[in-house]
Amino acid sequence: MTARILDGKSLAMQIRKEIAAEVVTLIEQRGIVPCLAAVLVGDDPASHVYVRNKEIACEKAGLQSRLFRMPATTTTSELLELLAQLNSDAKIHGILVQLPLPKQINERKVLDAVLPAKDVDAFAPENVGLISQGRPRFLPCTPHGVLQLLGRCEIETAGKEVVVVGRSDIVGKPLVSMFLQKTGPLGPTNANATVTCCHSQSTDLAEITRRADILVVAIGKANFITADMVRPGAVVIDVGINRLGDKIVGDVDFEAVSQVAGAITPVPGGIGPLTIAMLLQNTLAAAKSVQAQPQA
Ligand code: NDP
Repeated sequence: MTARILDGKSLAMQIRKEIAAEVVTLIEQRGIVPCLAAVLVGDDPASHVYVRNKEIACEKAGLQSRLFRMPATTTTSELLELLAQLNSDAKIHGILVQLPLPKQINERKVLDAVLPAKDVDAFAPENVGLISQGRPRFLPCTPHGVLQLLGRCEIETAGKEVVVVGRSDIVGKPLVSMFLQKTGPLGPTNANATVTCCHSQSTDLAEITRRADILVVAIGKANFITADMVRPGAVVIDVGINRLGDKIVGDVDFEAVSQVAGAITPVPGGIGPLTIAMLLQNTLAAAKSVQAQPQA
């Protein structure tokens, strides 16, 4: 069997076109230009690339982006000061703090300081709570990208056995929560799964992953999921991004697993582009939720 390739790149382009059209309408009807503030601390080369890609995506879809660069020696209180300014700036609708932050910075304190209404990554406790209660303000970008890809590729999750490998606050945990809801971003068939979450302390991992109708992997270990860990015909979503020499590979051994799976995402060109598209969507949503100013 050779798996169907789930092309996240072209889906993301389609979503970005939809967003661009909505941005035009928002500007025409209300004069609001959605604006994303990206905060980049330090010199991590990968972070610079990620932020640059987000800026380019904003420009192409007609959103504004503003980059706030701070040196690697920045303290927690300096960063909190910047966030306070961004929180109160009415022209900024979304705030993104690029992770990882330098070690001396208290990451939790910083993420907690982003105003929930501008928290387009959906990391703030209030937004995490709203997601878990099934009434999200924003959906976190990577998990949302996974559900958009499944829904738009007409892969239903309702009643399916879903296994998520990885329990990070950014990917695994919110994804589990979203799969469990009674409705998803694309309706009830885009949620309502029976979900198992695995992590580094799980025993008999292969025995669990082989049960999955839909297997999502987000662990950050190159080519970790091998063909024998996948049920024939399963849908495999690879969130991982790992640098192997000069190549970028996922957490799934793509060559081998695509001979067993029914459908699979490539890396690159799978969930990565959708993550960026969902960030734009959240920034647009944040701008739309700005209350109209009363006429003087
Ligand atoms: P974290 O390092 O925060 O979390 C990794 C998770 O994987 C942890 O829950 C860990 O378990 C689990 N894990 C590690 N080793 C194993 C193992 N041998 N068996 C089972 N579980 C294991 O990573 P992130 O969630 O932030 O990212 C995961 C991957 O996804 C990375 O490659 C990252 O680059 C990529 N990523 C891609 C994005 C995209 O846009 N496509 C966006 C965000 C991330 P434990 O909790 O027990 O330590």
